[in-house]
Amino acid sequence: MLFCTKLVRDLVFEERALQPCCNTHNIAVPSFPFAGGEVDMAAYTRHIGAVAQEIQRQNPQVCAGCPDLVPLSQSVHVPELQFSVISLNHHRHVCNCRCVYCDLWKPGHHPRPFAILPALRSLHDQGALKKNCAISWGGGESTLLPDFETTGRWLRAHGYFQQVHTNALRHSDWIDHLLSSGAGRVNISLDSGNAATYARVKGGDWWDKVLASTEKYFAAAITPRQVDLKYIVFEANNKIEELDQFFQVCQHVGAAKVQLSFNFIEVVNDKVSEHSIAAAAYFVHRAEKLGLVCELFFVDAPIRERMDAARRKLFG
Ligand code: SF4
Ligand code: SF4
Repeated sequence: MLFCTKLVRDLVFEERALQPCCNTHNIAVPSFPFAGGEVDMAAYTRHIGAVAQEIQRQNPQVCAGCPDLVPLSQSVHVPELQFSVISLNHHRHVCNCRCVYCDLWKPGHHPRPFAILPALRSLHDQGALKKNCAISWGGGESTLLPDFETTGRWLRAHGYFQQVHTNALRHSDWIDHLLSSGAGRVNISLDSGNAATYARVKGGDWWDKVLASTEKYFAAAITPRQVDLKYIVFEANNKIEELDQFFQVCQHVGAAKVQLSFNFIEVVNDKVSEHSIAAAAYFVHRAEKLGLVCELFFVDAPIRERMDAARRKLFG
């Protein structure tokens, strides 16, 4: 028997579907059509039950080859679902940044994001959210949504912790409030430590603006652990001096936690260079030396092994 805990723990809102995970492994993720309004939990639970059966049948269209599948000793039973994490990506294509490793901002025929509060409220009313369920705002860029703050206020009033992934191009007073009240965290993808690298990687001359927002979020937070600074390492930003400049910024703003990831396009095409692996090894090593918590974000075992080998070779 094979199973994945995300099937019963996680719910991801996509543009026109509900899923148990984001597609980070580039495989066939189970998808349940959804275009806004209330979530029919009875129907979604039946769907997950059917997905669990298809996984046992090794249907190549359902989770096949996913490293998150684990063996189970007992037979699969899908309980009444109660989610621990809800990820909001229904606005994937709404963004004011132009990252070179991302296609989401590029023009195309994308449906307008539906209002998210009716869906979240319906999950709450059906008892489908665990008491300590965390809500992760992904995207796209959530601060551009007209219902970002009203939805955030409803979540806050109902005691749900919120994590906001943002490019920080637009500063949000509401995020300041989330941070200062201890009801949320923010993750800022900088991918650089200076204006020139920023413009090259993020597609615009917005470094000063982003740094100003970042400083405000650190000032608002109760603890710097509420603000993660993220670095996606790849060919355009993998020089050691660029990483050092990023860590200078971390020290300038008083960061306590950094996050490292890779360019998913390079990952799925098996194109992560040795230079980027060495840069990532240096990143982890440097973060440790500076006393920063360093989290690897969606870094699979084969890349971790390459990083560990590079770290042993470079730093003993
Ligand atoms: S097995 Fe993989 S693809 Fe399937 S739900 Fe889990 S994480 Fe997603
Ligand atoms: S901020 Fe995120 S969604 Fe926007 S362009 Fe960059 S990677 Fe894509």
